[in-house]
Amino acid sequence: MQPRRVAVLGGGPGGLYAARLLKLAYPACEVQVHEQGEPDKTFGFGVGLAAGTQRNLEAADPDTLRDLVATGVRHDMTMRVRGRGVRVRNDHLIGVARTDLLAVLQRHAEKAGVRLEFGVRRAAAGLDADLVVAADGVSSATREAGSFGARIETGDGLFLWCGADFPLPDAVFTPVETEYGTFVAHAYPYSGGRSTFLIETDERTWRNAGFDATTAELEGEGVPPGASDEKSLRYLEKIFAGQLRGHGLIGNRTRWQRFRTVRCDRWAQGNVVLLGDAAHTAHFSVGSGTKLAMEDAIGLVAALRESPDPATAFARYEETRRPSVERLQELARRSRLWWESFPSRLGLPVERLMVAYMSRAGNVSLDRFAGTSPDAVATALRQYGGAPPDGDLVQWVLDRPLTHGNRSFPDRVSVPELEPLYVDLRNPWSPEADALIAGVRGGVLVTGPADRPAVLTRLDLAERIRLETGALTAVEAPRALSGDLAAGLVSGRTDLVQLTEEQV
Ligand SMILES: Cc1cc2nc3c(=O)[nH]c(=O)nc-3n(C[C@H](O)[C@H](O)[C@H](O)COP(=O)(O)OP(=O)(O)OC[C@H]3O[C@@H](n4cnc5c(N)ncnc54)[C@H](O)[C@@H]3O)c2cc1C
Repeated sequence: MQPRRVAVLGGGPGGLYAARLLKLAYPACEVQVHEQGEPDKTFGFGVGLAAGTQRNLEAADPDTLRDLVATGVRHDMTMRVRGRGVRVRNDHLIGVARTDLLAVLQRHAEKAGVRLEFGVRRAAAGLDADLVVAADGVSSATREAGSFGARIETGDGLFLWCGADFPLPDAVFTPVETEYGTFVAHAYPYSGGRSTFLIETDERTWRNAGFDATTAELEGEGVPPGASDEKSLRYLEKIFAGQLRGHGLIGNRTRWQRFRTVRCDRWAQGNVVLLGDAAHTAHFSVGSGTKLAMEDAIGLVAALRESPDPATAFARYEETRRPSVERLQELARRSRLWWESFPSRLGLPVERLMVAYMSRAGNVSLDRFAGTSPDAVATALRQYGGAPPDGDLVQWVLDRPLTHGNRSFPDRVSVPELEPLYVDLRNPWSPEADALIAGVRGGVLVTGPADRPAVLTRLDLAERIRLETGALTAVEAPRALSGDLAAGLVSGRTDLVQLTEEQV
C-alpha cells in the first residue's frame, strides 16, 4: 500500500525509528512525529542493545545502527554477593545513553525527511492522517481510550531507575543486605562516562525503610512532576557506596515503581496501530523494551509494504511480531519472578548463583553458558560435585552423588519413595503455591504436566520447597528435558530428578 500521510504519536525509540523507516520506504509520504517532551530531555539513563537486536537493525537500516554502535559501550558482567564476585565475558551487549539513542534517531528521522514536533501533547483521535502509529509508551493514552483488549499485570517488587556520573567497569548485579531487608542493584555503564543503577527491592523492605512514605510524599500536592525521591537516593547511595566509589546517585524523575507488563488482545483499531511499550512491555531484567519497540517498527513497515490496505497490513504486522513478543514476555515474566525472589538464594556460592541467573528463564542452557564462560561454569560445577568432565556435562551433573542430612544417594536420578506433589500452576510464588508448600511435611516428589514450561515452573517451586522447608526435593520430568534438570540441579532448584519417558 502507499500511505499519503502518517502521524506517529510519541518520539521514543519505537516512534522515531518507525517514522524514519516509513519515510525511507515511502519518500512521497508525509511523516510527522508528535512528541510531548522536548528534544533533549528524556527520562531514564542507559539502555542495553544486544547483538541479535544490532543484527536486526543492521539489516533494516545500517546507517542508524552504525551511529548507535558508535555511541555505545561494550561491557562484561559481574555478580558480586557477600564479598565474592564472578565475572563473565559479554560480547554481545552495548549500553547506550537514552539521550544519545534518541538524538541519533531524531537526526536520522529528520535526515530522511520526517517532520518532528516537540512540546505538545496530542491525542491519536485528533491527528489528521491516513495511518496513526501510536508509540506513546507504557502509559499510552491511545491504548486506554481504544478497545485493544489491554491487560496489565503489576509486579510485586519495587524498582527505582537512577544513574551515576562515572562508568562502571562492568555490568554489575549485587545485593546489599540491610537492617530493613535486601536491595539489589542491576547497574551497567553506558556512553558519556555514566552508569545506570536500577535498584530493586521487595515490598516489606521498602516499607521497613520508610520508602512507602517518601513515595506517597512525591504523589502529594505541590510536588513538581520531575521531582525525584531524594531520600531514597541518599540512603541507597550509602548502602551502595562500595559500588559507587565515592560518587553519588543521580535522579531524573526517579521514584519507586512496580513494573507493569502490558499485553493487548489486538494491536490495531481502524487506522490506529500500537507499537512498542504502548502494545506490550517486558520486564527490565531482560533488557528488551527498546529492542521490541524498534523491531516492531521494522515489522510494521515491512507489513505495510507487503499489503494492499491498512487492515491487511496491521493483521500481518501482528501475525509476524506477536510470536517473538510473547516469547520474550514469557521469558521476562520468569525473569521478573526470579529477581523478585533473588534474596532467598544468597546462600548459594556466587558462581552457582550465576548459573542460576543465566538459566532463570530457560533461555540459556548449561552447555551454552559453559561454551561462553568456561571458567565460571567450571567453578560452579566444582562447587556442585567435584572436578567437571571434558565430555557430557548434563550426564555428569545427573551422575553426581548427594548427601542430604544423614541420607546418601549414588546419583541425582535414584529417587527414593517420596510423597508426590502434583503441581500445575503459572506462578510458583503465588498464594496458591504458598498453600502447596505449607502442606509439605517430609521429602517430596514434585510432579505435573510434561511440557517444558510446566517443568521449569516445577523446578522453581521445588527450589522454594528446598529453601523454605529443608525437605529433600525431587522433580519429575521427561528425559528429553535433562538439560533443564541439570541446570536446575547446579542452580540449587532441586536435590534429585526423576526421569520419565514421556513426550514433551
Ligand atoms: C527501569 C527500566 C529499565 C529499562 N531498561 C531497558 C534496557 O536496558 N534496554 C531496553 O531495551 N529497554 C529498557 N527499558 C525499556 C525501554 O525504556 C522502553 O521499553 C522503550 O523506551 C520503549 O520505547 P517506546 O518508543 O515504545 O516508548 P517510550 O520510550 O516510552 O516513548 C514514548 C514517547 O511517547 C511520548 N508521548 C506519550 N504520550 C504522548 C502524547 N499524548 N503526545 C505526544 N507524545 C507522547 C512520551 O513523551 C515518550 O517520549 C527499561 C525500562 C524501564 C522502566
